Amino acid sequence: AFIVFEGGDRTGKSTQVGRLQAWLQGRGIEPVMTREPGGTELGQTLRRLVLDPASGDVDHRAEALMYAADKAQHVHEVIRPALAAGRVVVCDRYVDSMIAYQGAGRNLALGEVSDIAWWAVGGLRPDLTILLDANPDDAVSIKQDKDRLESAGLDFHRRVRQHFLDLAAERPGEYFVMKALQGRDSMAASIAARVEPLLG
Ligand code: C5P
Repeated sequence: AFIVFEGGDRTGKSTQVGRLQAWLQGRGIEPVMTREPGGTELGQTLRRLVLDPASGDVDHRAEALMYAADKAQHVHEVIRPALAAGRVVVCDRYVDSMIAYQGAGRNLALGEVSDIAWWAVGGLRPDLTILLDANPDDAVSIKQDKDRLESAGLDFHRRVRQHFLDLAAERPGEYFVMKALQGRDSMAASIAARVEPLLG
């Protein structure tokens, strides 16, 4: 099974990723835990490049293509082989992050960004996408000294949030939308209940 977590910055995504990992392990399943950007060695290099304030004013298309390259390598090197070996893969961000951030966030043409992202991953779709949804006005304490992207501003994060919700509405069978910033335990329990039927 291929399970993806999506959501805006500061929605508690990392916590829930860790909780799902622990829950799976408790059931005797050792999941492959991975993330984008940065799930491979090449991806780590790209992650540093794209998130480093020292990269300066990176053209939005150049940024999108670095994310696409990260994904292509990640699917090739990590995700497809793990799925082929019958593993459960839990990925922190995937294609829809690129559509939401580089498309809606950066105001690039959504259809084009979507085509590039899906092309990069060879059309590999998640079985389940868990979206942690929060109003950026509540979620993000945007620190100017954080990385380049988190300092992008509230309007940027509002567009990202809205587009995640739009994507979830387009693919309701794949998406599980979870109100973020509520009790960690109840969130983890709801997510586990949604994942359970996928484990076969
Ligand atoms: O979720 P994670 O902490 O790995 O994200 C790192 C940063 O990269 C975040 O600020 C996120 O907003 C940004 N990002 C992005 N576009 C993507 C994926 C992540 O701007 N496609």
